Amino acid sequence: MTKKRDPDRYTNSIEAPTYQSASYYFDNADHVRAGLHQLTTPAGRYGRYSNPTWLEVEGLVSELTGAESSLLFASGMAAHFTTFVSLLKAGDEVLLPAESYRQVRNVFHTILPKFGIVVHEISIRDTEAFLAGVQSRSARLRLVHLEMPSSPHMYLIDVARVREIVGPDVIITLDSSFSPPPNFYALRWGVDLALFSATKYLGGHGDIVSGVVSGRRDLIEQIRWYRDTTGPVPDGNTAFLLRRSLYTLPLRMRRVNELGMTVARYLDSHRAVKRIYYTGLDSHPHFKLGQTYLAGHGGVVTFELGLSEAATAEVVDRLKIPFMASNFGAPHTLVEQSTFFTYFEYDDAGLASIGVDRSTIRLALGYVNEPEEVIKDLANALP
Ligand code: PLP
Repeated sequence: MTKKRDPDRYTNSIEAPTYQSASYYFDNADHVRAGLHQLTTPAGRYGRYSNPTWLEVEGLVSELTGAESSLLFASGMAAHFTTFVSLLKAGDEVLLPAESYRQVRNVFHTILPKFGIVVHEISIRDTEAFLAGVQSRSARLRLVHLEMPSSPHMYLIDVARVREIVGPDVIITLDSSFSPPPNFYALRWGVDLALFSATKYLGGHGDIVSGVVSGRRDLIEQIRWYRDTTGPVPDGNTAFLLRRSLYTLPLRMRRVNELGMTVARYLDSHRAVKRIYYTGLDSHPHFKLGQTYLAGHGGVVTFELGLSEAATAEVVDRLKIPFMASNFGAPHTLVEQSTFFTYFEYDDAGLASIGVDRSTIRLALGYVNEPEEVIKDLANALP
């Protein structure tokens, strides 16, 4: 076998090649000087630090979000964890919504305090109470982490007012997994870093686990050092799949926004549905915030039946179209009974603290399904 391949034989390929390489070679000492010491020639060094396919994805995500820079990770959680560990130090105080994603809360409550970080958590259900909580702690805060819409109730946050309250020096991060562009552009509202589980809408095919952080270049460079040192990175093939998916993100979002709205309207009119949580409906407590911040309301529709957990499970069992699974942004429609799935380890007090009723059903509409077939399925299953 020859020692070296011919470099970049097809330079006129429209799509950039997918790179799967653990390491990168240099031609000679001058190349090492230019590519590694002086950084005057772009060159790879080692697969944990960089990969040309990641760079393609990161560039596309920056374009989509309007970011100065972006960084790719092996999962959404890896993006979150590495971001917080990079930007915080012992003694720093941070604040997050009580309705944040369960594993993100675990990072804040179980892991970060081990390193001397002080964590405050406030519910976002009452917008003014949340803002007052931010205000009362703002003098001591180093970072505010936001997430919107939250799951399962799709609560929103008045992001611009959070920035106004904390001033320019506090870092604001926002988990935008449920509301990627073109539905929501977090970085336009004073957010420093937008975080995404790319496993969801960005990946959009239910076949990869990945994550991205996008935003201010100075912060991204701090996070890069931690990522490159500790290694929560995806392989080239995952990056390739994500790159391909990003081309269709706006198309897919438009489709699920329509699906979400149609199915939400149907459920809203159904006598067996006691409550519905969809930010595109004026019955949602944060409908007005939705009108300000969101250009579309996504494919996740949450509703309560006012039944027992067992009776609700019977309704879910009667559904034929959705897979019973915990994800969203995938091609297929998925359904989860919240207290049976995500929160099955929570007792009554735990559920009350996050306001999740035992009859809560979260429907994550998939773009391969037509609204009529989902509605027919719901009509057959609902009492
Ligand atoms: N943020 C939100 C809102 C999520 O729903 C999830 C996963 O469910 C994550 C972050 C974590 O992302 P990942 O599963 O890609 O690690």
